[in-house]
Amino acid sequence: MMEVYLDNNATTMVDPKVFEEMKPFFCDIYGNPNSLHRFGAGTHPKMVEALNFLYEGINAADEDDIIITANATESINTVIKGVWIDKILNGDKKHIITTEVEHPAVTAACRFLQSQGVAVTYLGVNAEGTIDAQQVKDCIKDETALVSVMWANNETGKIFPIKEIGQICRDAGVLFHTDATQAIGKIPVDVQDCNVDYLSFSAHKFHGPKGIGGLYVRKSCALTPLLHGGEQMGGLRAGTVDVASMVGMGWAMKLATSTMALAYEKNHISKLRDKLESAILELPDTIVIGGTENRTPNTTLISIRGVEGESMLWDLNQKGIGASTGSACASEDLEANPVMNAFGSDSELAHTGVRFSLSRFTTEEQIDYAIEVIKNAVTRLRGISSSYAYAPASHASGL
Ligand SMILES: *Cc1c(COP(=O)(O)O)cnc(C)c1O
Repeated sequence: MMEVYLDNNATTMVDPKVFEEMKPFFCDIYGNPNSLHRFGAGTHPKMVEALNFLYEGINAADEDDIIITANATESINTVIKGVWIDKILNGDKKHIITTEVEHPAVTAACRFLQSQGVAVTYLGVNAEGTIDAQQVKDCIKDETALVSVMWANNETGKIFPIKEIGQICRDAGVLFHTDATQAIGKIPVDVQDCNVDYLSFSAHKFHGPKGIGGLYVRKSCALTPLLHGGEQMGGLRAGTVDVASMVGMGWAMKLATSTMALAYEKNHISKLRDKLESAILELPDTIVIGGTENRTPNTTLISIRGVEGESMLWDLNQKGIGASTGSACASEDLEANPVMNAFGSDSELAHTGVRFSLSRFTTEEQIDYAIEVIKNAVTRLRGISSSYAYAPASHASGL
């Protein structure tokens, strides 16, 4: 049986080239980078190189900082809680703006701040699954400390107007954080061009190892550390850095953000995604959530009426295919996906979404196999669905 991994927005395979670069740092070059002897110092050249790859990958300026963290969740918490301490507890700003469709790392951190008396505005998305930059502008007040809007959505792949939002925040003197975890390696990310102050990412979403991430901090933007301890990362993130993973993340960034790699995503991966998507859309009562415009090249979130998302995943898994009903972090409970809920009141829509996310390792042969399996699964599941048999309805208009 062919195995087809179509859940790359949850995590990706480590690129074998990345793994090769990591290997020496387990048994050969294992010194603590903070030690003064030759063993520690031996780690430095490759760490410096990795850091340079990170700077190049997001076009950070030399004077800016990139802090190595454990993952995007830590980066996000560091920014949101750091701004809270700096601007809200120690200042007179009490307001944060974000969206309804952020990853739980952002939403849960914001909910925590709400429990501490901070006002949070959650911007709703439009029918295209994104927001207008103007919505941000309209909500900025004198007390606004931070705007946090994701670069691309993990469920729909929808790309947010980051450049416009960055300009609005810069003009208003409000700090701007973006969760770019789903953007890096899929579309160009340029922190200077987009006036970004803070940016979070996780290596395992772009073919790097799990358990390592980064936080970009523009020069002159304050950062209050989340972890206190040793003087690592200039005191901004204490704890001995995972050298092997840091080197791996650097190489993963270099490979994923090269002009060639991004062109391959845009021209080739998007074609494979479109082939899969249009084959599914040939079936009646299917719809792409948020529409097909302005998405990352690798993602599609499709609602198949009469087919419970979880049942579909089960059928696909039996045939060797891994997909998702949406965020892996939220799928353990069978509650409707919050991102789908954000699209409106159609609760069936919210339960029938299946997300397919490709990577540069996905082949056309795999997509052809997936199409065949998906079509058979839909036929089988609709055949046993009580609601679909009696009421094959068209989807709500406008979606
Ligand atoms: C995966 C993901 C995260 C969290 O990444 P971790 O490595 O689990 O911390 C945050 N935001 C988005 C958009 C993601 O897709």
